[in-house]
Amino acid sequence: MIIDQLLEKNQEFLRNFKGEDPGKRPAKKLAIVTCMDTRLTDFLEPAMGLERGDAKIIKNAGNTITDDALRSLVVAVHSLGVEEIMVIGHTDCGMANVDFERLRETMEEKGVPRDFIEELGLEDWILAIRMRKKMLLRVSGPSRNLGQSPMIYLSMD
Ligand SMILES: [Zn+2]
Repeated sequence: MIIDQLLEKNQEFLRNFKGEDPGKRPAKKLAIVTCMDTRLTDFLEPAMGLERGDAKIIKNAGNTITDDALRSLVVAVHSLGVEEIMVIGHTDCGMANVDFERLRETMEEKGVPRDFIEELGLEDWILAIRMRKKMLLRVSGPSRNLGQSPMIYLSMD
């Protein structure tokens, strides 16, 4: 399993770890809400000139300000010294093209109870992301791209 491989890598990492700790308060007093997209791993930070310890980075599907993301932002601002918040999306986000009906069918095929799926409110969530993406494209456009593929654009100043 991949998890076993990761745990092995972690043991190797710990053998060489010198114990450097940049502290829990972000050096740049910045929080970022961005997408969980795997293409952003080891890409967003260098694209923005960020180093370990610089910013609180909150990731979820579609860089959405969910209740959970909001809770994290509240703690970041009121307990950890964050003074600025950025929401960073990217081109070709998988959340912009999720077929809700197909997602629901797949979940049911895998045994997820229908009432649980309804309680999740996925349809409203996905529709909200689609609407927001259209608004962001109109408001900020791709003119502020900062990287290669996937290009990163700033969604809020
Ligand atoms: Zn995405």
